[in-house]
Amino acid sequence: VADYENGEWGNFRIEPYAPLQLNPANATLHYGQSVFEGMKAYKNENGEALIFRADANQKRLNESAKRMCIPEVPEHIFMEGLTQLLEVDKAWIPNKPGCSLYIRPFVFATDDYLGIRPSDKYKFMIFTCPVGNYYSKPVSVKVECEYTRAAEGGTGFAKAAGNYAGSLYPALQAQKQGYDQLLWTDGKSHQHIEESGTMNVMFMINDTLITAPTTTGTILKGITRDSVLTLAREMGVNIEERFLRVTELEDALRSGTLIEAFGTGTAATIAHIAKIHINGNDYELPQKDNSAFSNIILETLDGIKYGRLEDKHNWIIK
Ligand code: PMP
Repeated sequence: VADYENGEWGNFRIEPYAPLQLNPANATLHYGQSVFEGMKAYKNENGEALIFRADANQKRLNESAKRMCIPEVPEHIFMEGLTQLLEVDKAWIPNKPGCSLYIRPFVFATDDYLGIRPSDKYKFMIFTCPVGNYYSKPVSVKVECEYTRAAEGGTGFAKAAGNYAGSLYPALQAQKQGYDQLLWTDGKSHQHIEESGTMNVMFMINDTLITAPTTTGTILKGITRDSVLTLAREMGVNIEERFLRVTELEDALRSGTLIEAFGTGTAATIAHIAKIHINGNDYELPQKDNSAFSNIILETLDGIKYGRLEDKHNWIIK
């Protein structure tokens, strides 16, 4: 835990997990100044804790913070807090394949007032939780063409609490219809696939890997997305960072040129997509075999995360 008061971070401490006391006028409750991250630690064969791409999470936390008028958490405070906490919590990193310790850093306003302005006080906290695989089987998704997750000029690129609040209602409707997740489309025309609620998405059409660019400010710059693209580039895979039109996706599903589709995320890792719903039609995707790109990339990523493969990109900190 760290507190921001009088323009600086201080009062660094490790505390037992416990409820927080909040004033009813707490600014976060009313105005939503809250940003967070999701990352993971893994255990290698020697029982050491390996944290994956913590520097990238630290940078993204601050990009989100800036957009929400929250003071940045300096790198050394983030890293020091993280490594000190892991010293205590590493005992909780599960030893089972596919399992890990989820790490949740977050920053929120702690001032109490009515009236709309950025808070003067904040708390930075990190807590951990042992987790298994987010999805135990391939997921079904519905292309969402009515509601919008993120508009251009909005906060879509930020990992801000409010983005998730706004996406709950449409996601719940889709779940009631039997789908696990939404595939969000752009807020203007609803004709371009952006991302899912918890993952970036990738499509293998013929031999080309297509994923939406993160330049519009409406898509979370996924760290798994970046890792997959880096590894795919090294494997010599054709990559197109461009928007896939909903009609193009539908054509590829109908003609069988969509070889595979999957989500990428810290919690989900690589989640195979088994079914896609577009404008009233359900399309089943072919079943994955072991040579599928998504299986190979999952094996490679897991190999690096669990310390079985060489960490060429310095993604791991011990
Ligand atoms: N998009 C959204 C909306 C997410 O919540 C997440 C999970 N953080 C992702 C994409 C994937 O990002 P990452 O790979 O950094 O976990």
